Amino acid sequence: MTSDFEAQLRAVSLRVTQPRLAVLAALHENPHIDTNAVIELVRDAHPGVSHQAIYDVLGALTDAGLVRRIQPAGATARYESRVGDNHHHVVCRSCGAIADVDCVVGDAPCLTASDAHGYVVEEAEVVFWGTCPDCAAKSKAPVFRQLGRK
Ligand SMILES: [Zn+2]
Ligand SMILES: [Zn+2]
Repeated sequence: MTSDFEAQLRAVSLRVTQPRLAVLAALHENPHIDTNAVIELVRDAHPGVSHQAIYDVLGALTDAGLVRRIQPAGATARYESRVGDNHHHVVCRSCGAIADVDCVVGDAPCLTASDAHGYVVEEAEVVFWGTCPDCAAKSKAPVFRQLGRK
């Protein structure tokens, strides 16, 4: 896996460094995590890497297109290494969990504007909002759960 990440960095002319490899690996294993979670994971494996270095790496990887930054309204920014396939996200309103939704159409933009006002449309950002299975299960049987605990 490591050599894949090295190849990704080289493909966008970024120098291969331990922090960059560590951030790519963390995001590959844990998609849609926020900055704090990235810092925790990377520093677990590489305690010598500073917070600032990880911020810088996230910025550089995002600018280079190796990492995608997603920021659902009202949520903290999350990062993922699955890029370039125009996939969408479904977000839980209660706990903020995020899952990938493959684009049905495949190519951007996956929606056709009813009136684009003459603009050349390149992308449509789609976020599905709802309740994740965990939160749905919790909200369905609150009374039962309380009784069951006693
Ligand atoms: Zn949830
Ligand atoms: Zn995703």
